[in-house]
Amino acid sequence: AVSVDGKTVVVGLGVSGLAIARHLRRQGEPFVMADTRLVPPGRDAFRSEFPEVPLLTGPLEALSLERAREVVISPGVAPTTPGLPAHVIGELTLFARARRACGRSTRLIAITGSNAKSTVTTLVGEMACAVGGRVGVGGNLGRAALDLFEDADTYVLELSSFQLETTADLGADVACYLNLSEDHLDRHATMAGYNAAKQRIFESATQAVVNRDDALTAPARELSCRVFTTQVPSSNEWGLSLHEGELWLMHGARPLMAASQVRLQGQHNLSNALAALAIGDAMGWPVETMCEVLATFKGLPHRMELVTERQGVRWINDSKGTNVGATLAAIRGLLPALAGRLIVLAGGVGKGADFSPLASAFDGRGEVIAFGRDRALLADALSPAVPVEVVDDLASAHERARCRASPGDVVLLSPACASLDQFDNFERRGEAFRALVLEGDNDGT
Ligand code: ADP
Repeated sequence: AVSVDGKTVVVGLGVSGLAIARHLRRQGEPFVMADTRLVPPGRDAFRSEFPEVPLLTGPLEALSLERAREVVISPGVAPTTPGLPAHVIGELTLFARARRACGRSTRLIAITGSNAKSTVTTLVGEMACAVGGRVGVGGNLGRAALDLFEDADTYVLELSSFQLETTADLGADVACYLNLSEDHLDRHATMAGYNAAKQRIFESATQAVVNRDDALTAPARELSCRVFTTQVPSSNEWGLSLHEGELWLMHGARPLMAASQVRLQGQHNLSNALAALAIGDAMGWPVETMCEVLATFKGLPHRMELVTERQGVRWINDSKGTNVGATLAAIRGLLPALAGRLIVLAGGVGKGADFSPLASAFDGRGEVIAFGRDRALLADALSPAVPVEVVDDLASAHERARCRASPGDVVLLSPACASLDQFDNFERRGEAFRALVLEGDNDGT
């Protein structure tokens, strides 16, 4: 049997687990890989890339992990997993340590929140590139933080609550907490626990960027803060107000650009644009360069992505709407400029969330077609305030939407749920929706 005594043990063989393994090897640190699954996905690839590293599979209790030098867990592994010692660290603790040790001055921008992380991280990454220098964008999206290490002078990292939960002393130059809404209660148990994980983004940070509209995003300790809001900003905040009869992005009393010039769709994306401006300002970037990026940045696929407009009906793919907060933002973002009705396709794995906030979001101007595992929960929470039709899967939901939509309407896939009951991930769900919608175009119907 392989002993873990005095060794570093990595738990969880996945994309992050591999990034941790590569990092430890680069650092010349001997380690052992462990996974609770008897045949973890990626096992053969791991064995061929790391033939010298022991791979231990099965229940962790058998490994006496309290005797290890240090245990590093992947974000997919809950710290409460039986057999883990009380003190574990995650990939970002390794990242922060290595960054301090490398002796080069680098900048770190860290971004978290329940929603909009990927959008804001990508946007800030584009701004950083426009300003110049070597930029590494990743973390919870794209490349793992440890895979970016030493390739950049400015790191822009998207961080999930799962990643932050095991992060000590991140030391970001700018730490941004975008918003907090219910998600992942199946893992964090309470909202307080979920918020506490996200609050760790501020550990050893130099500056913070927080959302005035969401008080829980403010750091629990004293820290220099830049504040954004979708309200009229006070003197030093980033916000929205009327200027020459039009809505503008503002810094205090200073108009920056007309909201209509921001390429991203929906009101909620104006909040994201303001967050990015506040982050860039904290970095000392010129506002003109940032506004140029805002005028061209189209956003990411599966986030309020217009698939097609056919016979006066717009079909929008927001498959990344995997929690109630995201779907609420999508609905509220679309209603103000909507001529007809909003038909929302929703459902999947609800992760223990309360769907009832959606009941009052439609203003009597919409309906829901519920599909997937938690469709009945969704229907119970919404009716009778919102008309709900219940079907089995996305294909049937799309079929029903085609029958119901008329010119001026929007059909929005924004499930408020994870996709894992019927799809591999939210991307596959979005692609399936796109294919169903575009099929009709090819038929000429
Ligand atoms: P994340 O990486 O946090 O999941 P994304 O940028 O991928 O964030 O967006 C996730 C979902 O959140 C999408 O459905 C998107 O439309 C929605 N969303 C975008 N901005 C906001 C916001 N400011 N508040 C709430 N939801 C938002």
